Parts: sequence; C-alpha cells; structure tokens
Amino acid sequence: MQSILSESTHPMTTLIYTHAACFGHIPGPHHPESPERLQAVLQALKAPEFADLRWRDAPMGTFEQVRLIHTPQYVKRVESLSPQDGYRALDAGDTIMSPGTLEAVLRCVGAACAGVDAVLANEAANVFCATRPCGHHAEADRAMGFCVFNQAAIAALYARQVHGVRRVAVVDFDVHHGNGTQSAFFDDPDLFYGSCHQSPFFPGTGSRQESGVANNIVNIPLSAGCSSARFRSTMADEMLPALRRFAPDLLIISAGFDAHQLDPLGGLRFTDDDYHWITRELMDVAEETAQCGVVSILEGGYSLEGLASGTAAHVRALMG
Ligand SMILES: [Zn+2]
Repeated sequence: MQSILSESTHPMTTLIYTHAACFGHIPGPHHPESPERLQAVLQALKAPEFADLRWRDAPMGTFEQVRLIHTPQYVKRVESLSPQDGYRALDAGDTIMSPGTLEAVLRCVGAACAGVDAVLANEAANVFCATRPCGHHAEADRAMGFCVFNQAAIAALYARQVHGVRRVAVVDFDVHHGNGTQSAFFDDPDLFYGSCHQSPFFPGTGSRQESGVANNIVNIPLSAGCSSARFRSTMADEMLPALRRFAPDLLIISAGFDAHQLDPLGGLRFTDDDYHWITRELMDVAEETAQCGVVSILEGGYSLEGLASGTAAHVRALMG
C-alpha cells in the first residue's frame, strides 16, 4: 500500500527495474561480465541525488516473449543446457551459463517488456533496466559475446505485438556493435537500429554499408581513441537526423558504458558528460516523435568505476 501511495505522488519520474536474480548469473572468476557490475550500478543509483527514482522488481520474462526474437530450437537449447551446478558454455567460451543464468536472463527480458508497458501506459517518464547480462549480441539462434537473450530486440517486438506500436527504434551506444539487434531488424522497414561503436572491433559487423532494407540500419563506426567531439558531431550530424526521419513511436536505448574512457575492454574515450548529452538528445527525439519516454536497457561496461559514473550520468539525464 505504501509503495502505491508513494508512486502516486511521483507519477512521472524515472522507474528502475532490477532483480536480485541478476546477481545469480556467475560466468566464472576473471570473466569481465561479473555480478560486481550490477553492484556498482545499484550503489551509484542509491546516492542521495537519485532519491526520487522509483524501483520495481523485474518480473520473470516468458518464453513466449523470448520467442519473439529467438527460435524455439535455440530457446530449448538454452533451457536444456542450464546447469544444476558448475558451468556450461553456450558458445566458444565467452557466454557461460551457471545455475542462476536462466532466471537472470529471463528477468532481463521481463524488465525490458515491463519497461515498455510502463512507458506506453505513461506510468513513468522513462525507464532504466538495471539488469545483466547484456543482450545485443544474441542472435535469433545463438548466444554470443556474453549475451543469451536479446532483451532490447525482444522489447521492440513486444511493444508491437502487445501494444500495437508500429515503428520502434533501438539506439545503441555500447562500444561493441549490436549484431544481434541489427540482424533482427534488418529486413523490417518499421524497425530502426542505430549504433555507434568502435571499429575494427568485436564482433566485426557494423559497417556503414550495412543499412537494412530501407536505410533502417544506421552504423557509425568510430576509430579507437575517438574523442568526445568526434562522437558528438557524428551523432548530431548523422544518427539523430536519421532517427528523426524514421520517427519512432517508441525509442529503446541499448545503454552500454564500455566506450567510457576508463573501460579496460573498449578503446573509445567517452566521458560521463557524453553519456548525459546523448541521453538528453535521444529523449528529445522520443518526445518529438513518440510522445512518450524512453526505455533504456543496460548492456556492457567493464570498468566498475566507469560503469557506475556513466550510468549515473545517464540516469541523471533521464530524470531531467
Ligand atoms: Zn559492449
């Protein structure tokens, strides 16, 4: 009762979806996609400046939601490989399942879909899903790059299926190209995927020539060492105009923070101010074309310090 009352007094603030089960995905010692990442994010968002955030437990995603993107065979494989103890690899070794992984990835899916529900119902100004692992490398039929299910792509198709939203965009500022989201969206002119990412770099996709069936894919490859100024000018000159032309009815952000200057895996040098800036720019487009808030979903980020401060800058922007 108390939470309902407190929600009604702040009906239009930023809503955070998270779940303790996301700590239960344990890919092994020395794996960069560690539970400590989520700890760093949650700790940052407990600072006094974030006191107005509202928090909800992420519901369990359903296999029906997962199958909006992934093949039934792949979903069965993930279920059957889910270990009772120890580890099972879903690919050559990057993407590992522990006993808690299946619930963690279903919570990621549930958070993203519940975020869509909340934003489209105007229950929240916008949503940030503080969940792990990341999802944007997961393809229809395979795990890849720490990602099991592609929660951002699933949320886009969920918005269409359940809410009748027609045009959905995912913009991805993770340092890696989201090959999984791109391939899910490539042939559908009502789905837009825009990514800026380091190139050449894992996973090797994301050239400018990959432009989809109707220029609905926009890739901005950035060289290692790319400055804030270059990042902002290419986003302002290329990505944001393309996104405005597409005019999404819903905007989802694949918010990775591994392009942060402190990140040990990425070679870009984004600052906290860059994350604040791009978040505000994307919110402006959403307000103009979708008349609703954004759903932002945590992807990568492997410096605990950079992840915490980048996420804080992003959520500070979401809160206006
Ligand atoms: Zn990444």
